[in-house]
Amino acid sequence: MYLEIMTSEKFSLEKVLSVRRWSAQLFSFTLTRPAHFKFTAGQFARIGIEVNGELIVRAYSIVSSPYDETLEFFSIVVPDGAFTSQLKDLTVGTDIYLEKIPYGFLTLARYQEPTPHDLWLLATGTGLAPFLSMLQDFDVWSNYSAIHLVYSVRTEDELAYVEQIQEIQTTFGESHTGFKFIPIITRSKTAALNERLPALIASGALEQAAGGQFNPATSHIMLCGNPQMVEDTKEALKARGLTMNRRGVGNIAVENYW
Ligand code: NAP
Repeated sequence: MYLEIMTSEKFSLEKVLSVRRWSAQLFSFTLTRPAHFKFTAGQFARIGIEVNGELIVRAYSIVSSPYDETLEFFSIVVPDGAFTSQLKDLTVGTDIYLEKIPYGFLTLARYQEPTPHDLWLLATGTGLAPFLSMLQDFDVWSNYSAIHLVYSVRTEDELAYVEQIQEIQTTFGESHTGFKFIPIITRSKTAALNERLPALIASGALEQAAGGQFNPATSHIMLCGNPQMVEDTKEALKARGLTMNRRGVGNIAVENYW
C-alpha cells in the first residue's frame, strides 16, 4: 500500500533495460525513461528499490544525455550497503522506482562569469557520470575552446567508459582540437599519471599533461566524486587563485558523491 502511494505521487516505476559490468565492483545500467522526466546534464536522479517491503532511495548521477530515450547510471557496489548490495544483482526487466523530478546544481548553466573558455572536468570513480552527460551536447563543444576530462581511479580495471569517451569525442567534437582525456591511475606504478589530483595540481603535472593552465580569468572547473578528493582538490585550486562559483560567479563547482 505504502509503495503504491509513493509510486503514484513521487515516483514512477521503470524497468531495467540493460546491465553492463565493468569490474567486480563497478556496473552501469539503463532504465526506461518516462516522458515527464526532464533533466539538465550534470543533474542526478533519485532511484529506489524495494527491500523487505520498504523503499530505499539513493541519488545517482545520470550518464545519459538529456536527449536520450533511456536513462543510464554508473554505480559502485558499496560493501554491506543496503542499496547497492541489492542493486548489484540487477537483471533486465527488474522494476526500479524513479523520483519524478531531478536534482542538483552541477550544471554548466550555473556559470555566468567568467564566460565559457576552458573547461576542466575532474572526476574520481563513478563521479565521471555527470561529465559524460555534459559532453554529449554539441553546445558544450562549441562554447569551450579547451575541454579537459580528468578521471582518477585506483586501478586500471576501474577505468570504465574509455571507449565511450572516444566515441563521444568522435561524435560530438569531431572538429574540436582542444579536447584532452587525462586518466590517472593512482595505484599503478606504470601509469603516466599516478598521483592524487591535489598533488598533480600543486606540482603543475596535471596542467602539463593537459597542455593548458588553470586561469582565474577564464577557467570553469567542476569536481565530482570522493568527498575528500573534492575537499582537497578545492583547496589545491584555491591556492592557485581560483575561486568557488557562487551565484554564477567564480571558477569551481562541486558535487560530493556520497
Ligand atoms: P575512491 O577511494 O574514491 O578512489 C577513486 C580515486 O579517487 C582514486 O584514484 C583515489 O586515489 C582517489 N582519491 C581518493 N581520495 C582522494 C583524495 N582525498 N584526493 C584526491 N584523490 C583521491 O574509490 P571508489 O572505488 O570510487 O570508491 C571507494 C569507496 O567509496 C567504495 O568502495 C564505496 O564504499 C564508497 N562509495 C560510496 C558511494 C555511495 O554512493 N555511497 C559511491 C561511490 C563510492 P587513491 O588510490 O590514492 O586512494
